Amino acid sequence: MASRAGEVAKAGSPADASIFSLPAAHAAERDLIEERPLGIQYGTPAARRKNAEHIFYLFAKNIPALAAIYFIATQPTGWVEWSAFTAFYVMNILSMSIGYHRFFTHKAFETSTPMRYAIAILAQLGSFGSLRRWIAEHRRHHSHSDRAGDIHSPYYDDHGRMTGGFKGWKYSHLGWVFVDSMTDEAVYGKGVAEDKAVLFVDRYRIPIFLISVIVLPTLWALAAGRPDAVLGTVLIAGFLRGVLALHAIACVNSFGHIYGSQRFVSGHDQSRNNWVIALISLGEGWHNNHHGHPRAANTSLAWYEIDMTGWVIAALEKLGLIWNVRWAKLETQDRKQKA
Ligand SMILES: [Zn+2]
Ligand SMILES: [Zn+2]
Repeated sequence: MASRAGEVAKAGSPADASIFSLPAAHAAERDLIEERPLGIQYGTPAARRKNAEHIFYLFAKNIPALAAIYFIATQPTGWVEWSAFTAFYVMNILSMSIGYHRFFTHKAFETSTPMRYAIAILAQLGSFGSLRRWIAEHRRHHSHSDRAGDIHSPYYDDHGRMTGGFKGWKYSHLGWVFVDSMTDEAVYGKGVAEDKAVLFVDRYRIPIFLISVIVLPTLWALAAGRPDAVLGTVLIAGFLRGVLALHAIACVNSFGHIYGSQRFVSGHDQSRNNWVIALISLGEGWHNNHHGHPRAANTSLAWYEIDMTGWVIAALEKLGLIWNVRWAKLETQDRKQKA
């Protein structure tokens, strides 16, 4: 237990037994406590609400996305639908890579209050669940990479039990969002509860989701002067886009900890650099570089590692919209480089 307490302290909070909350209904599982990492709350009402929200997204996203595939197979589609799909897919990935990930979770740069709100709204429009929850969840991932306590490792489940194979892959891809446990914000989400921009988008995240998948694609088709293309644009550029972007990012957590190369080695961390994932996730797939430099605004450390998200951040810096950007270079790695 001593090493686990140390890990929690490293995550930014004192190791306090009270952060591990075990409701009475789970008393029978008390013998598992030693196997479970700290900073996780099991079987709480908040965990049930989180699961209900994810089940809502599961149906609300996937049924119309299946309808989109049927629509593509049976109806004529054209430049309105596919230009919207491309634009919204790119924005959806950037919402994760810049918003959820590099800015709000890792603080890779600083910016003004209006820009903070703009990035928060862009992030939540991506609808990868609650931005507020995700920040603490992802910091937990970095604190315990591929050890007990990692929220989405292909090698450990949410109870800190070893797993692997297809079961481990399923858990790390999207299975982890449906487990009956919550990441404790008091342990992993330092500063999140005081961030007004995060709290604002967290409160309105369901209407923001509906704006993302229905309102914006509708406006795109209407702006193009094609009211007849509204249905196809909503299905393809709204719902199908949302599902594909979600899986592209989920691939970073699943395949991105299994397949690819490692430039940095650190403990049990199995993060990989994978060019296919990097391509579909606009740079997030250089995931071993990211684990080597978690607070950097870039994931590319070589000319052939294309990181489009890093380019967008560099453009925002040039425009003066953001500052104090942390750029990682190969010769200044934070972690031991593989020989
Ligand atoms: Zn990772
Ligand atoms: Zn990260």
